[in-house]
Amino acid sequence: MFPDLRSLNPPQREAVQHLHGPMLVLAGAGTGKTRVITIRMAQLIASGVAPDRILSVTFTNKAAKEMGERTRQILGGGKLKARPWISTFHALCVQILRSDIERLGYPRKFTILDRGDQESIARGTLRDIRVTEKSLKPGDMLSIISGWKSAGLPPGEAAAAAADDKQYLAAMAYRKYQQKLKATGSVDFDDLLLLTAELFEEHPDILDKHQQRFSHVQIDEYQDTNGIQFRLIEALVAKHKNLCVVGDDDQSIYGWRGADVAHILNFGRYFPGAKIVRLEDNYRCTDHILECANRLVRHNRGRHGKVLRASKKSAHEVRFVKYDDENLEAEKTVFEIRFYIQKKGIPARDFAILFRTNEQPRIFESELRRQGIPYTLIGSQSFFDRKEIKDLMCYLKAIDRPTDEASLLRIINVPPRGIGDSTSSKILEKATRDGRDFWVVARETAAQGEVSKKAAAALDEFHRLLQTYTRRFEENARQMDVIVRELIEAIHYDREIEKQYPDPQAQLMRQGFVDEFVDAVAGYLEKSSDPTLTDFLDGCALNGRDDEPDKEKQAAEDAVKLMTLHSAKGLEFPRVYMVGMEENILPHKRSVDADTAQAIEEERRLCYVGITRAQEFLTMSRAESRIKWGSRRPTVPSRFLREMRSDEALEAEEAEEAGENE
Ligand code: ATP
Ligand code: MG
Repeated sequence: MFPDLRSLNPPQREAVQHLHGPMLVLAGAGTGKTRVITIRMAQLIASGVAPDRILSVTFTNKAAKEMGERTRQILGGGKLKARPWISTFHALCVQILRSDIERLGYPRKFTILDRGDQESIARGTLRDIRVTEKSLKPGDMLSIISGWKSAGLPPGEAAAAAADDKQYLAAMAYRKYQQKLKATGSVDFDDLLLLTAELFEEHPDILDKHQQRFSHVQIDEYQDTNGIQFRLIEALVAKHKNLCVVGDDDQSIYGWRGADVAHILNFGRYFPGAKIVRLEDNYRCTDHILECANRLVRHNRGRHGKVLRASKKSAHEVRFVKYDDENLEAEKTVFEIRFYIQKKGIPARDFAILFRTNEQPRIFESELRRQGIPYTLIGSQSFFDRKEIKDLMCYLKAIDRPTDEASLLRIINVPPRGIGDSTSSKILEKATRDGRDFWVVARETAAQGEVSKKAAAALDEFHRLLQTYTRRFEENARQMDVIVRELIEAIHYDREIEKQYPDPQAQLMRQGFVDEFVDAVAGYLEKSSDPTLTDFLDGCALNGRDDEPDKEKQAAEDAVKLMTLHSAKGLEFPRVYMVGMEENILPHKRSVDADTAQAIEEERRLCYVGITRAQEFLTMSRAESRIKWGSRRPTVPSRFLREMRSDEALEAEEAEEAGENE
């Protein structure tokens, strides 16, 4: 029953067999850190630890799924009665809050806000305190507050931490914003962590319960934990200190989100007596790729120097390519990929195109479509940003939680059912003013003849429809996909699509999104042992940040992957294309403008993460000109290109350029 440890090298084996007390595995990319904690989970179970007392925290939903998959393989399918908890920080917190958030004065059925909801609340908050958009944009307000929340700073302490005018205004807005969230029973993404920490700190009995529940805790990508996540973990393991963390300081790429590399570098100080393991053999990349990565990251100062040896030799050098413009870059890159797929029989899933910013994938997507290559865009929020998906999600939210007025308002007249804007805002205004239920006020307003007869009838009918579905989902959650399909028909959503998109082709595509949504519900049902609508909506709120709902299915599909460097963390692909290797893209314009060593070093680490995703082939490309703000401009090659090349390569290139100039 013990997992086979022969596939591990000696230090990996040592880490897997060290089962109790604190341990840090600090090692470079591709050295098997994730593999170590996956196998260690099996080892813990084999040594008698109950599976459901093990908690493994990963950074993305995708990583959690992969680790679950790998553990199942090692442990042999469905033989176990219980499963280990493998989840992201956020998913763990949702689960803890769903059972105990009432102790903090929030309703058990709290809503998790998406970015759009958050912005509209931020806008309202700024309006309330009479701060104009010129002084502080809602988006900026949210990122400043998010920074404070990640550092664990409550509204009362924010003003003292404010460093400039904008931050000062944000500090004023923070308290109000927080009050608004609480009043509507909603939480934002950062609150999930913050409220869990608060719950643990103010209610020792709840903390005790969770301390008992998990006897062993593991964390992957530990370099990216922020202050509040650290507090949570510290609290969870305070009694037994059975904590194993793995990470690489060279891959810390979330400093802008409050992550603090100090947590990994000072691990021994926080947990005295911790065992420290170093892994030095990289099993992922060829020697050429790894040399390139090593040469680059050496330019960073604030790092823990470490050895990283390649165990794979290869004849293929890393390729550096330049194109005249961004269109050619996309066209030729996709052409090359198509050649390998169609002429050499290489599966599409072997290829990944990695980029820095969210504007970059668009031309690659249209090129892939034009050349007929299957692809998946990962890490964008596009799925949940689509109007159809937003509408349907709001229906489900309004059905699941009748007090969710923000969702209700979005769909109350979508498709049009004769409830005009003026009617709904009149009711909402009254309801908010008196702190009463929307529907109660609606009925009164109708009875008093303040809305037209037609609107009153429509309101009544719509309310009944929602109530019917609330009941149906509660009674028959197993049939959720069927019920969703019926709901879509009952509200005649096809009419909304016809109204928005006169073009039949566009209608078909939009209808496709609706079908995809129903598939996502069906996919959820397949995976869940105890499905509920609330749980499905939670999953969507969490996944929306870095995944599409059916990403698991898509990842297995044979398609070229397009993703940002951030979402590529932890993954590997045989053939990687890093595109747009230019100043102001990588390093990002924000960091170039900031011009601090800290900002540039984080971009360099991001580049390092990209390079070390490649197993066999790595191509880096740039365009010599690019359209920016409406006009074509020349670009400057990324400084990282120079830094990662060997001296010989640089000399050869200089000679070539001198030749060109003659
Ligand atoms: P990252 O820093 O990118 O997260 P990592 O340290 O987590 O990387 P893994 O993803 O666990 O590395 O492993 C990288 C690759 O090396 C995987 O394909 C893994 O299966 C393989 N690998 C790890 N250890 C060994 C080993 N001892 N022998 C052979 N292959 C190994
Ligand atoms: Mg890993």
